[in-house]
Amino acid sequence: MQAEEIARLMAGSGAQGAGERPEDEGFMLEALAEARLAADEGEVPVGAVVVCGGEIVARAHNMTEGTKDPTAHAEMLAIRRAAEVLRGSVHRLTGCSMYVTLEPCAMCAGAVVNARLERLIIGAADPKAGACGSLRDIVRDERLNHRVPVTRGVLEEECSGVLKEFFRTRRAEKKHPKEN
Ligand SMILES: [Zn+2]
Repeated sequence: MQAEEIARLMAGSGAQGAGERPEDEGFMLEALAEARLAADEGEVPVGAVVVCGGEIVARAHNMTEGTKDPTAHAEMLAIRRAAEVLRGSVHRLTGCSMYVTLEPCAMCAGAVVNARLERLIIGAADPKAGACGSLRDIVRDERLNHRVPVTRGVLEEECSGVLKEFFRTRRAEKKHPKEN
């Protein structure tokens, strides 16, 4: 956790957005920690945690490069891990919430619906691929038999900042490759 984040939390600033709950920033910080782990591994930094009964039951970060699996998005991994942990104690992931630092893509949004998540909390919007309100809105599509309430913009600056920083560093490294 970075100093300015702790200061922010302690100051209790962070005007709450639509549907935001007091616990949301704390859990989003945990998702951010996962995103930073991804960055350390050279992965696009997106992190997610699944919360059930007020506890984190699964955490994951994007691993598409390392695993060479294009479906290894943070949300997919977090949902699979949560399902393993909860194994049958709940129907799918009913009653669970997912916190993710970047708006889920179409694949992950589909998984969120199939998991029957109770709530989805998003950090930064993804205008290029977001399927939870940006390009389309799969999780709140009236035609589907399950819809997931969405809270957007929790720690938005921090969540988009970690992505911006990652791509800035990557561009700089491409321009000036390290000599060794
Ligand atoms: Zn995805």
